[in-house]
Amino acid sequence: MGSSESKMVFVATSDLSGLVRGKSFPISEWEKRSVRGVGWTPTNVQITCFDTIAESPFGSLGDLALVPDAATRFQMGGSGHALDIALGDIQSLEGEPWDFCTRSIARRALRELHELSGVTVLSAFEHEFQLKDAPVRAGDSFGLKGFRDAQAWAEALIGELDRTGCKPDTFMKEYGPSQYEITNKPATGLVSADNAVILRILTDDVLRRFGVASSFSPILDPAGVGNGVHIHFSFVDDHGVPLTHDASDPFGMSELTRHFIGGVLKYLDQIMALLAPSEISYLRLTPHRWSAAFNNLGYRDREASVRICPVSGRDKEAIARQYNFEVRAVDAAASPYLAYAALVFAGTQGLRDQIEPPSPTQEDLSLCTAEELAKRGVQRLPQSLAQALDAMDGSKMVREWFGDEFVNVYLAHKHKEIAELEGLEWQDKCNRYKEVY
Ligand code: GLU
Ligand code: MG
Repeated sequence: MGSSESKMVFVATSDLSGLVRGKSFPISEWEKRSVRGVGWTPTNVQITCFDTIAESPFGSLGDLALVPDAATRFQMGGSGHALDIALGDIQSLEGEPWDFCTRSIARRALRELHELSGVTVLSAFEHEFQLKDAPVRAGDSFGLKGFRDAQAWAEALIGELDRTGCKPDTFMKEYGPSQYEITNKPATGLVSADNAVILRILTDDVLRRFGVASSFSPILDPAGVGNGVHIHFSFVDDHGVPLTHDASDPFGMSELTRHFIGGVLKYLDQIMALLAPSEISYLRLTPHRWSAAFNNLGYRDREASVRICPVSGRDKEAIARQYNFEVRAVDAAASPYLAYAALVFAGTQGLRDQIEPPSPTQEDLSLCTAEELAKRGVQRLPQSLAQALDAMDGSKMVREWFGDEFVNVYLAHKHKEIAELEGLEWQDKCNRYKEVY
């Protein structure tokens, strides 16, 4: 039997592996622990998604605090076994943000954008996931039957998301076998990445109560569909005035939007290892999967790394508020904070250097020669995690944004993950990741 009173608080961090880890304490200790946090060990940052430990500069030394952010505290397990969860920041014992705390890095990226331009990001994470080991039924793409199968847990999940303030927007049976999609409403700044972490926690927890197992892994079957994370972006100023749209641009982009997208696309190859950080991520990022294979801008085209999304109606103000673009080259092996930070750093660089994006494409780029791609100003994205890591390694800008030490630790972490999978067939690699994410 479950209980509806929480007895413990779990302080959670979404770490380099994109997984949620943490520690708990009795709820009666909240006052003290909400200030002091719980002890955390530096080398934990090198625990891979398979629980092996990559080479760490910290060894067995050092102490940190994982400090819960009271604003993020919520109770999960309404009708199951209740637990309070708070998302935390990893800090030094003196209270300084730790250079490897993903949440602190995302906060810093958002602050730098705001300092430069007065811009606040509004964003929403759209998640796809599949049910593990569910029977395949023909005719189920966007189907009513698949939706009805899911309705009981979907309603419970939407109820829990709503209760935590992590407002759900839409839910649907997606195209793939047992594939579903759930999207949050836009939220400001860091809150939207917090919501993405919470959405993954709650999806697993609620579905489990219904005897259903979910996986957000980038791809379950090398020949099948991928599970994407699409991050929708728009911008407001300090008074909430929308800054994303400009009716005089043929595609509706304001100058700010153009330059932000310009930065994202220019540096996309160098940040891919943070957006799509598993080995199997690169099975998904291939042409004709409606994911992202080139660093192209699409106008309502779903085969683009950045896609300008549709708006409806004629009301100018409503359009200015609705207008947004999505980055599609992300998956749920990435910590939402790291993916978000990388995109905001790259976008901010685009504003600094007034980078123009390539013209939107509306054709099958996989049919283009290298010359034709160059003419369009686009390139094929890295085709393996190893390639993406090399691009990150050699990136002066990524090293500037994240710091050399962070980049070196991240590279060691991911190379350990690759070594773990050496010699396995692709389907076996997918099976390993399916269990983890
Ligand atoms: N499943 C696709 C992906 O991997 C996205 C499909 C869509 O929603 O357009 O990103
Ligand atoms: Mg989708």
